[in-house]
Amino acid sequence: MQNEAKLSFLSKSANESFARVAVSGFFMQLDPTVDELTDIKTAISEAVTNAIVHGYRETTGIVYITLRIVNGRTAYVKVRDTGCGIPDVKQAMEPLYTTAPEEERAGLGFAVMQSFMDTVRVHSRPGKGTAVIMTK
Ligand code: ATP
Ligand code: MG
Repeated sequence: MQNEAKLSFLSKSANESFARVAVSGFFMQLDPTVDELTDIKTAISEAVTNAIVHGYRETTGIVYITLRIVNGRTAYVKVRDTGCGIPDVKQAMEPLYTTAPEEERAGLGFAVMQSFMDTVRVHSRPGKGTAVIMTK
């Protein structure tokens, strides 16, 4: 089975719960365990929050999510923004690295994504935006 769905929404924090619900609804067809679904939802929440609070800092933009089922068993998620981008992705992905310590950010979002998903790839260009692609 292959399947795909896309959603896009304004970068408002009220839409984070919408994204979580939509994502879990889509992946229900994989018949996941509660733990698997929680892991996917948590990872996506981190990526969506990053798009909203970092990518579109000081502005409002659109967050794009692509959901896929690959080979009938793999959940594929892409969370993309066209915001400020990340100058040094390797550094940004290091645990505890944050550019917003004054907002009580822990710098653990990417670490959470990496521990809850099987693969995490990040493509980013300063001034163009960021895409986080994850599978489980
Ligand atoms: P936490 O997720 O623990 O609240 P955090 O968001 O700072 O803190 P990460 O999610 O690991 O930590 O992200 C690390 C850093 O990478 C961020 O502080 C930010 O500088 C940068 N970053 C992450 N996602 C994006 C994005 N979509 N656009 C621009 N910068 C980003
Ligand atoms: Mg984060």
